[in-house]
Amino acid sequence: MSSGDEEVRVQDDARMETLAVHAGEQVSDPDGSVVFPIYQGTVYRSAPGESYHDIQYLRLNSTPSQRYLHDKLAALEGAQAAVATASGMAAVTTILHTLLAAGDHLLVGDVLYGGTHDFLAKHADRLGWEYTVIDPHDPSSWEAARRPNTKAVLVETITNPLMRVGRLPELVAFAKASGLVSVVDNTFASPVNFRPLAAGFDLVFHSATKYLNGHSDLVAGSVAGSTELVDSVRRTLNIYGGTLDPHAGFLLARGLKTLALRVREQNATALALAEFLSANDTVSAVNYPGLADHPDHAVASELLSGFGGMLSFRLAGGVAAAETFLSSLTLPAVAPSLGGIESLVTLPARTSHAGMTPEARAAAGVHDDLVRFSCGIEHVDDLVADLSGALAKV
Ligand code: PLP
Repeated sequence: MSSGDEEVRVQDDARMETLAVHAGEQVSDPDGSVVFPIYQGTVYRSAPGESYHDIQYLRLNSTPSQRYLHDKLAALEGAQAAVATASGMAAVTTILHTLLAAGDHLLVGDVLYGGTHDFLAKHADRLGWEYTVIDPHDPSSWEAARRPNTKAVLVETITNPLMRVGRLPELVAFAKASGLVSVVDNTFASPVNFRPLAAGFDLVFHSATKYLNGHSDLVAGSVAGSTELVDSVRRTLNIYGGTLDPHAGFLLARGLKTLALRVREQNATALALAEFLSANDTVSAVNYPGLADHPDHAVASELLSGFGGMLSFRLAGGVAAAETFLSSLTLPAVAPSLGGIESLVTLPARTSHAGMTPEARAAAGVHDDLVRFSCGIEHVDDLVADLSGALAKV
């Protein structure tokens, strides 16, 4: 087949693996390329009188490569529409700029990605936004935090670095009953483990830098939801300019094709490592929602179809043991970030949570000896052998 903008057909009820490969694909290349090409052009011929946001122009997120990526992202989220952004931070800041005007109020979960937290802490005031921190585990406290000017609620599916999972079904019900737009950062779970829109959230976003791309070689974000909401977000994005470049978009679409395979493997590896670590005398605590002793195991079991590829743990020997452990590992790189095919290990107290005081960190459970592990797709036996060797040295 060749020419035209023929969409490759994929059934609505296709599984995640099939959607990842076929959704959004089009036979639009005149030479019949099986792989959707990169449209590098910034601008395309348009009909006179076309409305501004419909013009095909790269910054307006409307070019063929961008539409292709958006369709694939929407299919994976089970969404009416999706839009890619230049980073996860561009996704969350654009969402908030879309939903909030000066004088509006926002509810936010008590554990947020550091960048999201810093954006609110440093910019909300000057934008005229107010926000109140809520405990996503305590539904009885939410109504008291709501105000007449509250417009939205923002939480994360699995939080960093203790892998907590809040009472999300109750949160969605609360938002609906109160007329709030519910927004969730689903980066740690990925759509393979949790589909927020099916659970009732209005908007889901990701740092696509992580699991969606999965290869630690680009920075991107995504936003998905109803056509109406995503279109408003896209219009805000068009103005602020946080557009994803077509080369990064091409790589992201390529990474998405193996999303389900990667994440399923990472789920299995994380569970195996969590169980291995729990049984090791040098380890004093393991945080993984797939373990029966995790405080959110019950809610996570109901909500998620997999517990994710991220875990954290403490070593009985404290900070010195954690440092020896990290420097003795051979396979994982010592680096922040997550969700790639290579395992990464980091001490959150020195990276993501370095800006907090030691007392605030300890109160949040982010102890100096806490080790965070992002499982890659190496063979689990090789990872266990590597961890085992490193633990033997602490
Ligand atoms: N949300 C979460 C949960 C993250 O971990 C990150 C980045 O680490 C972000 C958002 C921001 O994403 P990005 O670095 O792609 O801007």
